[in-house]
Amino acid sequence: MAYRGRFAPSPTGPLHFGSLVAALASWLDARAHCGTWLVRIEDLDPLREAPGAAQRILDDLAAHQLIPDERPWYQSQRSEGYEAALTRLREADQLYPCSCSRSELNVHDGCHPRHCREQPDWHQTEPFALRFPVEDQDSHWQDRVLGQQPLRLKQEKDDAVLRRKEGFYAYHLAVVVDDIAQGINQVVRGQDLADLTPIHLCLYQALGEQPPAYLHFPVVCNSKGQKLSKQAGALAIDTSMARRNTTRALTALAHRPPDALNDAPVDQQLEWAINAWNTTKPRNS
Ligand code: GLU
Repeated sequence: MAYRGRFAPSPTGPLHFGSLVAALASWLDARAHCGTWLVRIEDLDPLREAPGAAQRILDDLAAHQLIPDERPWYQSQRSEGYEAALTRLREADQLYPCSCSRSELNVHDGCHPRHCREQPDWHQTEPFALRFPVEDQDSHWQDRVLGQQPLRLKQEKDDAVLRRKEGFYAYHLAVVVDDIAQGINQVVRGQDLADLTPIHLCLYQALGEQPPAYLHFPVVCNSKGQKLSKQAGALAIDTSMARRNTTRALTALAHRPPDALNDAPVDQQLEWAINAWNTTKPRNS
């Protein structure tokens, strides 16, 4: 099956060093497998988005020669696909409405005081979220780098919100529906998302689809050990330093270019990295 991978940034701000590393990891893995690489803008939550960030991310990627092979997708334009998936889940009894607040759930140890799951009330007048009911699970899934990972879920407590009370579609739904719709069969993303993979795998199963292979790589952290992010104060990448940024990003992915290529033109560094790409290398070797 031809490799199809993607980078899926949330446009909460411009590209920073951590997101450049994430983009580069997915791009390199796709190129090393002669695959197709896509960019999908995960603009599901207008309240968290920075105006102009989506276009700026695409421009910043292009400045580092990371250019998608197909037109970028925008999740804000994908409501029909998400509604169709919700309808399928509802028809399969894999969805329930829930108006419980987080604090109510906390008081009840994650269980629903109104028995939303057992007695779904689709006619309630309060705003409700749509949740995906998971079954108790204690098994495993495979990651290309991390190896065997636990797949542990607790019925009710781990039921995922797929559409929020405010009407916004949730990440879990959108990421799975779009990866299916775009034919993505290889997901390369940061290790911070590895714990969410069990829910995604259950969603693939509920939708009757084959899940992709997963590779979660170690994320870049700041001096306080926090993942680089806009919230943790990560700075926008300076595209006038694209060569230097590429050397640093490759180094963060344990693929430090040979000295002769340090700060060489980006395309030369990338060409070297495609040939050298080896996901079993320890970090920062
Ligand atoms: N949009 C997510 C993020 O920016 C990434 C989603 C994914 O790769 O599955 O963290």
